[in-house]
Amino acid sequence: DSAMYQAKKMTRGSIKIYQHSHEQKRHSTLQNELDKGLDYTELELFFQPSLSTSEQALVSVEALLRWRLNGKAMLPKQFICVMEQDGCFTEIERWVIHEACRQRKAWLQKELINDDVTLAVNISQSFFYHPSLIKMLRNELNRFELDASMLELDIKESTLLLSSKRASKILKELKELGVKIAIDNFGMGVSSLAILHHHPIDRIKLDKQLFHNNATQSLPLIIGIIEAARSLNIDILAEGIENKTMLDYLIKIKCDAYQGYLIAKPSRNDVFESFLKSTV
Ligand code: C2E
Repeated sequence: DSAMYQAKKMTRGSIKIYQHSHEQKRHSTLQNELDKGLDYTELELFFQPSLSTSEQALVSVEALLRWRLNGKAMLPKQFICVMEQDGCFTEIERWVIHEACRQRKAWLQKELINDDVTLAVNISQSFFYHPSLIKMLRNELNRFELDASMLELDIKESTLLLSSKRASKILKELKELGVKIAIDNFGMGVSSLAILHHHPIDRIKLDKQLFHNNATQSLPLIIGIIEAARSLNIDILAEGIENKTMLDYLIKIKCDAYQGYLIAKPSRNDVFESFLKSTV
């Protein structure tokens, strides 16, 4: 028994070492790519829709970044930290805003989307605190003649907790500009409900893990968040909804909107436009 246990432990250990070195290899390959100078044509935005639970109407579209290397679209968790370490991620986040606004304008011109559907863009902690964030957003909105209220910034709770005073000031300026503010991955961090009282939040995005890992255990938390949000007039969107059972549950607890594979996976714009056409 003990020999078997040792053997198991060793196998597990070597898998870990393998994963570690595999990870390091990918990291240095990506770093080499960045050293050569990032080719922006390798970046791409994927889009994923969210629907209202009550009417199944399109309420929001999230832009999700992909890096296409050797024909394969890599996921953010594989490359964002390399870009952050390299120092080029702020420039890339500017590109994301520009590209998202350009695309939103194109959908409007093609009459594929209504004015009230928001376009959600993720904002990293360092971009949120970047001195030119507001100016940059204003420029892009003006360039494409878009109403600021159609742009939603998805900000992680941890970003707002880093420096509550500075965060309040920036959020105030963002509200003056007119963009919408969503708290991303809510329910998995410290999830202080006080944050909802202190900041002008338009939407909470419930983390997908709340619905994936033991949903019954998360139930009281989810209901508590929904009650608090409702009393403050904050919209609630559930992420990672993969099946009808999860959707029925959201309808029962009166969660406003949802996103997930049950509706559609994030996709390239041509595929996403076909989705939009099929829902018109
Ligand atoms: P997020 O903002 O929480 O985005 C939702 C993630 O959940 C996406 O992963 C999406 O593909 C995935 N997802 C959607 N529906 C389902 C589902 O039903 N089941 C499961 N298992 N997953 C689902 P993705 O595209 O890999 O992005 C991961 C994270 O990377 C995002 O999490 C966001 O934090 C970050 N990210 C993506 N694009 C950007 C960007 O342009 N800028 C910044 N700063 N961060 C980004």
